[in-house]
Amino acid sequence: MSKQSIGLNKQLYHYLVSVSLRDQDVLHRLREETAKQKSAVMQIAPDQGQFMAMLIKLLGARRTLEVGVFTGYSSLCVALALPDDGQIIACDVNEEWTNIACRYWQDAGVAHKIDLRLAPAMDTLAKLVREGEHNRFDFAFIDADKTNYNGYYELCLQLIRPGGLIAIDNVLWGGAVAKRFQWDVETKAIRALNAKIHADQRVDISLIPVGDGLMLARKRGLGI
Ligand code: CA
Repeated sequence: MSKQSIGLNKQLYHYLVSVSLRDQDVLHRLREETAKQKSAVMQIAPDQGQFMAMLIKLLGARRTLEVGVFTGYSSLCVALALPDDGQIIACDVNEEWTNIACRYWQDAGVAHKIDLRLAPAMDTLAKLVREGEHNRFDFAFIDADKTNYNGYYELCLQLIRPGGLIAIDNVLWGGAVAKRFQWDVETKAIRALNAKIHADQRVDISLIPVGDGLMLARKRGLGI
């Protein structure tokens, strides 16, 4: 048996999806529509969406944060997994993309769970902190501009309750993080955050090689 994660070639990935993805028509249609967008690569993989829905249910999450909505696939997965009185505060600045998201949230009957804030996410999160929303959220998904990842992480860590979870996307950055001569600002930002979280005693961690790498950081505190 291998001591490291199995590499997934196309054939094996298709097998994984074929035996584990429980697709829904609305999710399938949103993936199809997003695939036509110029920035389609920004959409998370369907198996990652299903994994995040599983996390929401395991956590018993009711209130969540999303930093970076794009066309709404991850928020749709999370919203479908939340109870009917659940809430996502979803942050993005792009009206064109989030208009697509809103259509699908409506279509899936989950729009009432999603509070879209069209403003820089740093401002929205800082405002929530100022409003005294510390420790009031169960889950946060960070998937936006990589150079601000550290700021998003610090603000989400204040807003998440002890035992709550922060999931950070693209932490393997297409493999660039492990390349010696890759020093662009985004790669540097992701590398620095990965190293910081590795040593961060405020959280329990696990880096899952799903999609482009998903860092899970569970907030410690109150003896848990
Ligand atoms: Ca992403």
